[in-house]
This record gives sequence, C-alpha cells and structure tokens, in this order.
Amino acid sequence: MSLIVHKYGGTSMGSTERIRTVAKRVAKWARAGHQMVVVPSAMSGETNRLLALAKEVSPDKLTVEAMRELDMIAATGEQVSVGLLSLALQAEGLDAISYSGWQVPIKTDSTYTKARIESIADARVREELSKGKVVIITGFQGIDPDGHVTTLGRGGSDTSAVAVAAALKADECLIYTDVDGVYTADPRIVPEARRMASVSFEEMLEMASLGSKVLQIRSVEFAGKYRVKLRVLSSFTPWDIPLAEEATSGTLITFEEDEKMEHAVVSGIAFNRDEAKVTVMGVPDKPGIAYQILGQVADANVDVDVIVQNVSHDGRTDFSFTVHRNDYPRTMDLLRSKIAPALGAKDVSGDAKICKVSIVGIGMRSHVGIAAKMFRTLAEEGINIQMITTSEIKTSVVIDEKYMELAVRALHRAFELEAPQTA
Ligand code: ADP
Ligand code: ASP
Ligand code: MG
Repeated sequence: MSLIVHKYGGTSMGSTERIRTVAKRVAKWARAGHQMVVVPSAMSGETNRLLALAKEVSPDKLTVEAMRELDMIAATGEQVSVGLLSLALQAEGLDAISYSGWQVPIKTDSTYTKARIESIADARVREELSKGKVVIITGFQGIDPDGHVTTLGRGGSDTSAVAVAAALKADECLIYTDVDGVYTADPRIVPEARRMASVSFEEMLEMASLGSKVLQIRSVEFAGKYRVKLRVLSSFTPWDIPLAEEATSGTLITFEEDEKMEHAVVSGIAFNRDEAKVTVMGVPDKPGIAYQILGQVADANVDVDVIVQNVSHDGRTDFSFTVHRNDYPRTMDLLRSKIAPALGAKDVSGDAKICKVSIVGIGMRSHVGIAAKMFRTLAEEGINIQMITTSEIKTSVVIDEKYMELAVRALHRAFELEAPQTA
C-alpha cells in the first residue's frame, strides 16, 4: 500500500461533471489499495472572479489590511472545490472528508497573497487515512501565526500538494492538469512542442522560474528539498484507463541526470509576459548607484529580475531592470518621486510591453556557442534584444512583447526541439 497525493488544477475541477470524473479517478486509486490525499484547485476562473469582485470594491488598495482581505476572499474558491469533491467521492461510495488549510493546519508566514509554507501538521490527516478515508485538502492556502488565512500566490495549489506530500512522506505526488505532461515549450504557443517523458529537477526549476506555469516554482523547490517523487500528467485521459498505464504517463521530474539528458543541449523554451522594464537615465556613474536604486526598490517589497547597467558617457549612465508587471506602476512612482531626484538622474522611462524568452538546458554547461545561436536566430527574425542574462543552464533575453510567439517558435525550431530525443 502506498500513500499517494493527487493534485487537480482548475480546468480539471472546472464543472460538477469534471469533479465527478476526478472522484471516479481517485476512487480507482483508492480501490487499488492506496491511501489517497487529494489537493484540488478552485474551479477554473473562480479565483479570477473572486479577485475581480475585490477589485470592484477596492480598485487599487495594496495595504496589508487590504491584502489580508484578498486572501480571505480568494481562499474560498478552494473551499468550495474540496467540499464538492468530497461529496462526489461519497457518492462513489468512498469515505471522504475535506479540510481547509487552516484545519490541517498548513502554517505559513504572514506575506498575504504570496505566503510561504512553514510547516504542515500530519496528525489529523494520518488519523483520517488510518480510518480508510480519502482526505481532501484545499490547495493554495494556509494560516499564519496569528490565525489569519493566507494564500500562496497564483498557481499555489501545486505547492500545497507537493508540501503535503513532503509532510506525509508520500510515495508520489501526481499533478493532474489540462496537458499531458511537461513539454519542450508551452504547447499552446508551439503546437510542435514535444512532451518530455522525464525532465531533470534542475531544468524544471529553471523552466518554472522562467515562466512555464505548468508548475509553480515553489512546488519544484519543495520537491527538490524533500525529494518528493513528482509527476505531471493529464486529467483528461479516460478515468478508467488501467492504473499502471496512468501511473507511468506524463512527465516525471527526475533527480538523477541520466546519460540521455546530456545530449539535450537545450531542453526547453520558456517565456514570461508578466514583467515590465524600467530605466533610470543619466545617473551619475559612481560607486553605490546600484545599491541606492535597488535597495530602495527592495525596501518597497518589489522583486527585481534582469538588471543592466550601461557603459557610462561623460560620467553618466543608464540603469535598467525588470520587475513584475503588477509592481510596475508602484516602481515607476517610486523612481520618479524619490529615487531619481535624490540621485540627480536625468529621466525615468518604462515599458510594460516586454517579455522574457529563455532557453534552458543542462547541456549548456558543457557546450559553447549556444547563446550565440539564440542571438543569431532572433536576429534572423528581425527581433531586437533589449537585455540579456545568462546562467550555467539558461540564457534569457528581454524583447518586445509583440514578438514573443515568433521568438519562441523560431528558437524551438532552431534548437530542433520537435525532433525525437536521441538515446
Ligand atoms: P492547472 O490549472 O492544472 O494548474 P495551469 O494552467 O496552471 O493548470 O498549467 C497548465 C498549463 O501550463 C498548460 O495548459 C500550458 O498551457 C501551460 N504550460 C506552460 N509551459 C508549459 C510546458 N513547458 N509544458 C506544458 N505546459 C506548459
Ligand atoms: N486557484 C489558485 C489560482 O488560480 C491556485 C491554483 O489554481 O493553483 O491561482
Ligand atoms: Mg497551475
């Protein structure tokens, strides 16, 4: 008997009919003798709907007090899902019980709207499992040290599921979603993208952090830290396919680099449309500039991603960086009203219509010229590169958002990612 965690995303939970199908699938696993814990998301569109309601009432409020209420509101989506799934399982003849994050409890810090899980108590869940029940736990949420409901950031149910699997030392965590695994690029943008039977943990971590939203980055971090066996697979296969077939479908996140992987110089292409670029122009070029700009940006709780400082002319330089698009208005305000005047900078400009496109691959470590090939490919398409950043296993460029699809497809072709993997 194994302890298995299933996670179902919003589309998989999108209607009562789909929820009944999820229940049938979970029942199949339970009847095969496994102890089952299920972590569902809110029904598709629900979190957006709830957050839009909040916005109608309070358009631009970003105070801590307002963020607390956003979490209070958004967390209800998953509460509905767990109740419905539990009912559907009971209707299937199984013993099932649902829990909210706070009832488990899943303890988090107090960073509303992007809280981090700190600990998960396993006693209550284990007790229910030992009684033969399927336990259903809300994704996306927890409770902070003062008893306030928190949420884990968009896509956070992945992280809930992996963290629950880690806490229970589950044998495997299966992430059921609306695609049948992790692809070489988002299959909605690149129809020729190829599903990978396995992907290394390091590559998955990069892909997720660079924008491949098939897994929330923190879920991959948890899987790495606690060595959770993690698989991404489809919830749209017929629910009654043989369990052995289902259990080996999709994409496995592997922790060992195998021989095969060394051949894939570039394994995947990722993109992120959620960023915006800001530039402080004509900053006096002297020690401490980066700190004076970015220190204040960090103090305002804004995360900075790509950073570029230009060569100076006449003792002045331009300093650019990217931030999350949600933080763009706030960052521009801060730069215009405080930072630029204090530094004696000439001007501040910004562009919210950019995107970051990245190539990822462990093989880049041992191959030279990969970045150059990326730049050549983009040049041949007439795409201007605004910023570049590299690490051992990835190269990212910031480009005009309108070229995103063109860039991703051209790079996918250039690195021959649609071809079958060589063994
Ligand atoms: P869920 O609601 O199940 O959590 P998400 O929408 O969060 O589903 O994640 C699944 C989506 O991730 C897919 O529909 C796909 O468009 C997108 N995606 C982005 N990059 C990739 C990739 N490399 N492989 C597979 N899917 C990807
Ligand atoms: N329902 C949340 C969201 O839409 C969490 C999730 O689906 O993972 O972001
Ligand atoms: Mg998701």
